[in-house]
Amino acid sequence: MTRLFGTDGVRGIVGQDMTHEVALRLGLALGTHLGAGSTVAIGRDARLSGPMLSAAAVAGLLATGVNVVRLGVATTPAIQYYTSQNEEVDAAVIVTASHNPGQWNGLKFIAADGTEASREDEEHVEQLYASQKFRLASWKDVGRLSSDETCNDAYVKAVQKKFKVPDGKRRKLRVVVDPAGGPGTLVTPRFLRSIGCEPILLHGELDGTFAGRSPEPVEDNLAKLKERVKETKADLGVAHDGDADRAIFVDETGAFVPGDQSFALIAEHLVKRHKGGLVCTPVSTGSVVEEVVTRAGGKVVYTAVGSPIVGRRMRKDKAVFGGEENGGLIFPDHQYCRDALMSVARMVELILTSGKSLGALRSALPKFFVSKQKFECANEAKDGLARSLRDWTRAKYPKARIDETDGFKVYFEDGWVLARPSGTEPIYRVYAESKSEARSVALAKEFVDESKRLLRAPEVKAR
Ligand code: MG
Repeated sequence: MTRLFGTDGVRGIVGQDMTHEVALRLGLALGTHLGAGSTVAIGRDARLSGPMLSAAAVAGLLATGVNVVRLGVATTPAIQYYTSQNEEVDAAVIVTASHNPGQWNGLKFIAADGTEASREDEEHVEQLYASQKFRLASWKDVGRLSSDETCNDAYVKAVQKKFKVPDGKRRKLRVVVDPAGGPGTLVTPRFLRSIGCEPILLHGELDGTFAGRSPEPVEDNLAKLKERVKETKADLGVAHDGDADRAIFVDETGAFVPGDQSFALIAEHLVKRHKGGLVCTPVSTGSVVEEVVTRAGGKVVYTAVGSPIVGRRMRKDKAVFGGEENGGLIFPDHQYCRDALMSVARMVELILTSGKSLGALRSALPKFFVSKQKFECANEAKDGLARSLRDWTRAKYPKARIDETDGFKVYFEDGWVLARPSGTEPIYRVYAESKSEARSVALAKEFVDESKRLLRAPEVKAR
């Protein structure tokens, strides 16, 4: 059976592979999986197709005898928090395509504790979706429908309670907030006002078309935010993705702060607060995080790529912090999922308690250079290439440490190289990092050139 769920639920282009029929069938499958009498909360981001897909999923759930609570438009972490805090809620559905453009949408399943559904649960829902062996409720046992629009509010209040700054250090920071027209606009400005800061909104009206900017918070999409921070002489800027589980920052000079730097700053702040502790992150994260965490007395644990994997490892190892360098940070004292508002709270805390600007804080970080390359590699050749590349590396660099948590990572004294096949496209990615730019470029080039040579070798093709 083809796998329906990707790393972030089921996603597709609306009207093509994401239709009312898909959502209805997913609702029926999830309802059958959970069983009649269960309760599911459902919320969505601001996409135009959200009400349509949500209504279809709700119909499927109700038909199987599952009760549904509609949460309306809310951020993904707010829906996850609501699910974990309300005992009568057994699962949640989030209708969102996160950072994908407006024509996309998707459905994501959340377990009772607020974290992403386990792979086992997803597999059962996939089987039911394929077999269509749905258990329909009788006329008097169809599910009950209710609404609760308190979810964003409760989430803001919970984050507000976690915000800790000594009284003498509190000050009104001016923060430009760019939620891209997504549900972040319903929580971040409200939170900032509640802690005595001044939000200045950019793309602050809910807009399911993302007319202001594309919903992925990468530097190319944040030119207006950088400009607005300078124009308004703000202390910082923050951008969210389309469902506001990620937060990416701009400093007071209007400079973009790469996600590994904001991750490193917040990691250092929390490791110091806990006087040590573990920080979990995927093997692809830059060494700036490990360097500052180690210096602050903590330790970094590397995982495979994917925020649910990081979150589960954090819970297992009782980590104090973790996340991904795309702005998806996880705070175990709040919840084990990416949490944009907590990221804003901790960043403001750090600026206020240190008495330093974000620009000054980041200029004190160690500097690393990353070279990112990719090359074409047929899906059938990916496994063979991984083995050949490992054999070649062991022979050429017998002392280098090799980590195979996800893909193939080689550590040298002055840097590392990570080679990973793409899970969706016929390409291979090579990342190399070093404190010297020339060295990072040379490392990436060496591994790309060698991979291409190996791919031409008959033994790689034959394997
Ligand atoms: Mg997202």
